[in-house]
Amino acid sequence: MTISNLEEIKCPKGHTFQAQLVSAISVSDNYELKEALIAGEINLVTCPECGQMFYAECFILYHDSQNELISFVYPLSFQDQATQCMSKMKKEFKLALENFNDKDKITYEPILLFGIEDLVSLLRREQDIGDEEAVLTHLATNLKLNIVKIAPSIARKLAIPKLMPFCKNSHDFSEKSLILGLEGLIKHNPNLEHYVNFFKKISKHKNMFTEIAKVIK
Ligand SMILES: [Zn+2]
Repeated sequence: MTISNLEEIKCPKGHTFQAQLVSAISVSDNYELKEALIAGEINLVTCPECGQMFYAECFILYHDSQNELISFVYPLSFQDQATQCMSKMKKEFKLALENFNDKDKITYEPILLFGIEDLVSLLRREQDIGDEEAVLTHLATNLKLNIVKIAPSIARKLAIPKLMPFCKNSHDFSEKSLILGLEGLIKHNPNLEHYVNFFKKISKHKNMFTEIAKVIK
């Protein structure tokens, strides 16, 4: 689902024209829409006067319920008003939640971004992580690994993949079995950049496993 409005915009050379701009996107049941966004095709406009192509800046509300991602994307020019945008976002989000039924209540927090390019890079990063998770799933049996999953919004907050390998020889998911699992995975495929970073992070920050353990059921 998308909502778009006819807006008056200005090209970098100062020509004014009208274009249909997307202001709300819900991608949960529309993978093509997400692809178009990742490809940088949303709100990319061409000035009819000088032919210049550019991103028209406007507010966008982005929602992907499957990936637990709600983002309020303000135009780049609002960056110096971050504090005001943050409180506006919190207020509007609270109001919006009141309209949901209890069972649909969203338990994750919205993310504040500036400029559509920031949203695109966030989505690209998560797509890369998703690709690495697919590799893990594919290799798990051969490498004798079990997988545990954490909620996408929590994985995003901790900046780690949501699928975690742990060594099958140990019965429980523990810090040791997770580190062994990660070691086994990246030894087999050192190109899994996000898992390599995760391994470095968990080896360095002693309290990281405590954070993860808290959200594993
Ligand atoms: Zn122009």
